[in-house]
Amino acid sequence: MLTAPGLCWLCRMPLACSHWGICSLCSRAMRPAGKVCPLCGLPAAHAEVECGRCLQKPPPWRQLIAVSHYTPPLSTLLQQFKFLPRPEAAHALARLLLLALRSRGAGKPDLIISVPLHARRQWRRGFNQSDLLCRALSRWLQSRYDPATLSRRRATPVQHHLSARLRKQNLKNAFRLELPVAGLHIAVVDDVVTTGSTVAEISRLLLRSGAATVQVWCLCRTL
Ligand SMILES: [Zn+2]
Ligand SMILES: [Zn+2]
Repeated sequence: MLTAPGLCWLCRMPLACSHWGICSLCSRAMRPAGKVCPLCGLPAAHAEVECGRCLQKPPPWRQLIAVSHYTPPLSTLLQQFKFLPRPEAAHALARLLLLALRSRGAGKPDLIISVPLHARRQWRRGFNQSDLLCRALSRWLQSRYDPATLSRRRATPVQHHLSARLRKQNLKNAFRLELPVAGLHIAVVDDVVTTGSTVAEISRLLLRSGAATVQVWCLCRTL
């Protein structure tokens, strides 16, 4: 899915506005299929009230907004963004997230926080995908963003094959807050939320440190 300037990253049709990166048709088509729970972002019977899972065990954040589920063409573009890598897709991806935020009435946060990568992984990739999304969003929303707000104290092994209990243990004390967040409404931005354990750990840390509210914004929510 290599693209030339002026063509949509997803469907390769010419763009009305070349700096958008993704055409308006693709942007409009980009939403989670069916109803999703406003708290966890997973398929649910109602889009307005939290699902049974969240009623039983609410996540620490107040709202989760995802552009779509982890399905093509967005998942393909996201893989290229991170692994090819194509950091120049960040602007178009951040814009999709902005459109999702607008359509779902997300409030403007005081502070935006990126999920830090461990230094070694960031050095290998050359950038942190969450940081690139945050830079664009903070510019457009006029919300404060400082990549140094949160640091990763140690590398955490790949998580998805671990049980929920092991994941939580694995992430314990993995992050450290470097700046005060007391009283602030905060949005944590990640590219993909899978089990939610990483953003949950960060949300709990922020709330323990006095943050007023935390919401989670991501490009894809995996099923
Ligand atoms: Zn398109
Ligand atoms: Zn839910």
